[in-house]
Amino acid sequence: MTVPELEGLMKEWGEPKFRAGQIFQWLHQKRVLTFEAMQNLPLPLRQKLLERCRITAFTVERKLISALDGTIKYLYRLPDGEYVESVFMRYEHGNSVCISTQVGCKMGCSFCASTKAGFVRHLTPSEILEQVYAPLRDTGEPVDSLVLMGIGEPLDNYDNVLRFLELLNDPKGLNMSLRHVSLSTCGLVDKIYDLADRNLQLTLSISLHASNDRVRDEIMPINHRYKIAELLKACQYYTNKTHRRISYEYSLIRGVNDTPEQAEELAKLLKGMLCHVNLIPVNYVEEAGFRSTGRSQIYAFQKALQQHGINATIRRTLGADISAACGQLRRTAIREHPAR
Ligand code: SAH
Repeated sequence: MTVPELEGLMKEWGEPKFRAGQIFQWLHQKRVLTFEAMQNLPLPLRQKLLERCRITAFTVERKLISALDGTIKYLYRLPDGEYVESVFMRYEHGNSVCISTQVGCKMGCSFCASTKAGFVRHLTPSEILEQVYAPLRDTGEPVDSLVLMGIGEPLDNYDNVLRFLELLNDPKGLNMSLRHVSLSTCGLVDKIYDLADRNLQLTLSISLHASNDRVRDEIMPINHRYKIAELLKACQYYTNKTHRRISYEYSLIRGVNDTPEQAEELAKLLKGMLCHVNLIPVNYVEEAGFRSTGRSQIYAFQKALQQHGINATIRRTLGADISAACGQLRRTAIREHPAR
């Protein structure tokens, strides 16, 4: 609940308005997990909250720490027995958490582990938020930025994601600036327009992964609904409205989207746009069977983009020893406990 909603509840219960702010701070600044811990509330109010309300909490099903770089991967069990995963990463510029927005995914991208077992349900705003609070509690370290790049398509769970952002951004809560949040989408064009009109300071990441419709049609079913030209038009609108640079993710898959001609084609597509290309060596997913492009060819792809004045970086791999890429751990858990 937002502060105004909590205020409404307090009014309904005949409590003073300021109790709403107190409860919100307990939940979102002190991040307690019980009503009992809310010590400045009168006992009868705590009792009433206990009877009628619920604080979203997860059980940590598995926690893996990378011996290579300290990345922590959490597999959480949700109250209904579903699993969701997030990753805590330490960078030089601060700590970042990669969070999930759905249990499973409907989008069907052929290279992605998150979608292989299909879609189960949306995550609620508090289930998305708890993925930020749980590592804060666990590590005692700050979280400086977030990426919505875990399991699920954030724009397919649009209302819950917007409410999550509102809670995250609240000055009475964590008060995180949306400038420190990246939302990654496979390209739900109607939602990109809507997001642009809201003028949030979010960083938008677009999972492009192809330089033409023929290849994108093959690996990303969303491309049957919205072609690349339509997607880029929406992106241009987003930049015009928000003046924010868009990030394009491009996973390099051997023999599929990694030729010098495709690098040229990509450069032509993005020419003149306020953008950045993030090249990602594709992670191996059993069912897909795709292999990553070799190192030297990745560098050549990057160089070709740069020669056209397009800013391109190669994503650093973190947590390689702990299946830290999206969807990998949940898949293993489902296999181990099929009768969940
Ligand atoms: N549904 C959203 C966010 C989740 S996926 C989206 O599509 O953007 C986060 C990023 O990881 C996306 O860019 C996705 O395309 C990429 N990704 C998925 N599977 C991958 C794999 N096997 N190797 C490399 N990147 C992958």
